[in-house]
Amino acid sequence: MDFSESTIRKDCPHCDPNSFALKFPLKETSNFWVVCDVHPLTRGHILIIPKKHLSCIGEYPEDVFNEFVELNDLFSNFIKKTYGSVSSFEHGKIGQTVFHSHVQMFPYIGSPETIVPESNSFLTAVHNLNDLKTIFQKDGAYLFFSIGNDKWIVDIKIGKPRFFRDRFAVALHNPRRGNWKEMHSDTVTMEEANREIHELTANWKKYSNKSI
Ligand SMILES: [Zn+2]
Repeated sequence: MDFSESTIRKDCPHCDPNSFALKFPLKETSNFWVVCDVHPLTRGHILIIPKKHLSCIGEYPEDVFNEFVELNDLFSNFIKKTYGSVSSFEHGKIGQTVFHSHVQMFPYIGSPETIVPESNSFLTAVHNLNDLKTIFQKDGAYLFFSIGNDKWIVDIKIGKPRFFRDRFAVALHNPRRGNWKEMHSDTVTMEEANREIHELTANWKKYSNKSI
């Protein structure tokens, strides 16, 4: 991969390997960082971040996409086996607060209506991660989430910043963790989050040693 200036942005927290967003790495590959979310919604919250400045999965070139699918499977299995369930989401540009792809993954089980209670008509099933590329090419945006093996996109007309974070925070019974800026200034919650991050790091170490 070519890491020229066009693929790395100086003002972007996900382009800078020394930024605080990448403070707790779990795995590094040629195209990706997998890190603990520094503001976890719950125990076992990770981010999969491409090294290249790409806005979302829909924009990944073929080699990056293929590597992503492998990491997605690997970490889905890890979270499911370690924490009992797995869900994920990504803002395909719509409502992003950092304009650099970061797929969020964490333990959660529930119905899609818990996340999008407004109307079933806002939900469209997605069968394959590859479909996100087609949708992105057509619409230029998407709001993607998964629960277990099931995947959906949400009508982008209801999209806004922290759309999924706020909703999953409520569904996970941690509503105050939705707003990560507020969470950051809450010392007690951040101490709790740091314990979860250290536990997650230890769990990954154990799991990855076993699976090699
Ligand atoms: Zn970036």
